[in-house]
Amino acid sequence: MKAIDFIKKVQNKEIDIIEHTHKVLEECKKINKEYNYLNTVSEDLAIKQAETVKKNPNGRLSGLPISIKDSICVKDVESTAGSKILKDYKPLFNATAVQKAIDEGAIIIGKTAQDEFGFGGFSTNVGLGFKIPLNPFDKERSTGGSSGGGAGLTQKASFPHLSFGESTGGSIVNPASFCGVFGLCPTYGRISRYGLIDYGNSLDKIGPMSKNVYDSALLLSVISGHDIKDSTSLNQKTEDYTQYLKKDIKNLKIGIIKEAFGEGVDKKVNKKIQEAINKLEKFGAKTEEISLKIPIKYGIPTYYLTATAEASSNLAKFCGMRYGAYEELKGNFDEYFTNVRSNNFGKEAKRRIMLGTFARMSGFRDAYYIKAAKVRTLIIEEYKKVFKKVDTLLSPTVPILPIKFNDISKLSIMENYMIDIMTVGPNLAGLPHINIPVGFENSLPIGMMLVSDHLKEGVLLQVAKEFDN
Ligand code: GLN
Repeated sequence: MKAIDFIKKVQNKEIDIIEHTHKVLEECKKINKEYNYLNTVSEDLAIKQAETVKKNPNGRLSGLPISIKDSICVKDVESTAGSKILKDYKPLFNATAVQKAIDEGAIIIGKTAQDEFGFGGFSTNVGLGFKIPLNPFDKERSTGGSSGGGAGLTQKASFPHLSFGESTGGSIVNPASFCGVFGLCPTYGRISRYGLIDYGNSLDKIGPMSKNVYDSALLLSVISGHDIKDSTSLNQKTEDYTQYLKKDIKNLKIGIIKEAFGEGVDKKVNKKIQEAINKLEKFGAKTEEISLKIPIKYGIPTYYLTATAEASSNLAKFCGMRYGAYEELKGNFDEYFTNVRSNNFGKEAKRRIMLGTFARMSGFRDAYYIKAAKVRTLIIEEYKKVFKKVDTLLSPTVPILPIKFNDISKLSIMENYMIDIMTVGPNLAGLPHINIPVGFENSLPIGMMLVSDHLKEGVLLQVAKEFDN
């Protein structure tokens, strides 16, 4: 059942929302035993919210179960960003996006598994003591990352459900692709970052994941908009994004990214994307090949320098004194600080702190961080030029099929980071992008990515609905 049909039933009191929420929580716990999608199931909160909805079922998301990435703050619910260093941290406030959903009657069912602070593309870099989420189609494979738990649960749940993901360099569309669901990363600033635990402030975005397009459009309509609590939030009116689903795609100009179909892309992925392109042409879209040079060639180093520099700065506040993990007070502050961080950050977090600190250190800053900032500007300029010619750009979301855990361990660090080849560009440029599930090969899902110009989320939804189920 689509979220919208479910919500109507709740509004008309055809569904006993308390009973339904109990069932949802039971299913979550059952799925979790097998797949590890949730770091926390927020039972008490969900039931309390169901009671509120029962009294007043008029909200636009009335009774709809929503899961939230662990890096997004939910009041009084452990919110760790998947890291041991934030263990037991229960925020005193809701992230703005979460609050907006609750105000419209959403029911928060839990916090989803992720790479620690979002540091990864496979959800395998989980914090110490956390469990790795497993692909809903094959438990020996990755869900993608870093919003892997949310994408997996969205695929597996039998009940109408939406998930809040977060993307810095691809973490919404990548897991959506590996789990066969829709994932929409909006324009930077479209949805408030207030209450999102920072990875890289100039890159982070919250966005919806869902089994069908309409539900993502609905959630985006509810949670986007200006927020005075986030100085980077765009001062733009909210839109009713569901309206775009009524538009056809006749004469819409789609640029097929030339560099996205070359070496390193699995043939099975290529084949499915080609079939999807044919379908779009049949519906009247005009396609043309577009070359995208700088984002593809320099996107990875530009992204990893920028993201790690910001991350290393953001993580400095986790020193065992304000919230989260702490150690016995021994030695001077430096010793204490080192101890807490050595014992509570995972391996990839440590790697990124070192890489990022190096990139912005005096003496190296010009060669790395500042250079990356300059290349980032070139990347934005190239996209802007392209969007004068076409409405949207098309490529595979991820160049490979959902990967086996066994094979991830064989990848070098560089190969590991290359998974983001298609997704870092739009993230560096703050451009909206979407994953559209376009079919299966070897019983594994394949995703297609569309990117559009700033604030043109509507175009993405317009095209995506042609693949709705
Ligand atoms: N895989 C990328 C990284 O490791 C993107 C992660 C994200 O978007 N949070 O940084």
